[in-house]
Amino acid sequence: MTQARFPGVPAELVDVVERHGQAVAAGDTRMVLADFRPDRVGQLAASARPPDRMDAAELLSLDPGPGDRHTAHIRYRGAGGDEAVFRSRWIEIDGTWHVTEVRNVPDTPPRTPFEHPSDDGSDAPHWEGLARRELRIQHCPRCDMWIWSPRPICPSCHHDQLEWPVIDPVGTVYSWTRTWQPFHPSTAGHLPYVVVTVELPAAGNRRVLGVLCDGDGADVRIGMPVKAEFDDPDDPAGYPLLRWRLS
Ligand SMILES: [Zn+2]
Repeated sequence: MTQARFPGVPAELVDVVERHGQAVAAGDTRMVLADFRPDRVGQLAASARPPDRMDAAELLSLDPGPGDRHTAHIRYRGAGGDEAVFRSRWIEIDGTWHVTEVRNVPDTPPRTPFEHPSDDGSDAPHWEGLARRELRIQHCPRCDMWIWSPRPICPSCHHDQLEWPVIDPVGTVYSWTRTWQPFHPSTAGHLPYVVVTVELPAAGNRRVLGVLCDGDGADVRIGMPVKAEFDDPDDPAGYPLLRWRLS
């Protein structure tokens, strides 16, 4: 049996999802956790980031798919006027509907406290470049070696006058991984995200790490072309971060 408001969705699931949204907005943790699939409770509880002191939930959409799952979008409003939209995916396990994925939408990359210039200043020109929307990679002018991560001297010829040329910020995906686990609180609201290792033809095929823009649902493949973007910090005293976009 389905209902007219959400074609193709079992009526009982509509009830479950609406009740779930109300439980989240009411801060009824026990009921919310009971909706999560039992083998992913810890992961799901820390995956999405709600507004502070919620007072309302609104079911925006509920659709069949992908696969054997159903996809819901619920908007939560905070008492302070801020809001967040969560996308949850629901699956039936032993006759009970459970949340199997949840995330904030739209998809934004995480900004962790681990991404900043090193204490010894060895990578300072790279960060100064990012602030000017340039990608700078360390290079040895004597033996033409490209160096990453930065070193005080060339690891090949031991030259100590290294340079930081600006390079064309395009490359190809050498490897990638999609992270579903909230390993750090700062990633809540940004899961899952895709980390890519990007090979830079303009820097002797040196490889740098970064997070993919729009990684949610992207069908990433090794060898795909990517282009750098520079993600400005909310805090003016912070640092821009290198992101990559499939091109
Ligand atoms: Zn050298």
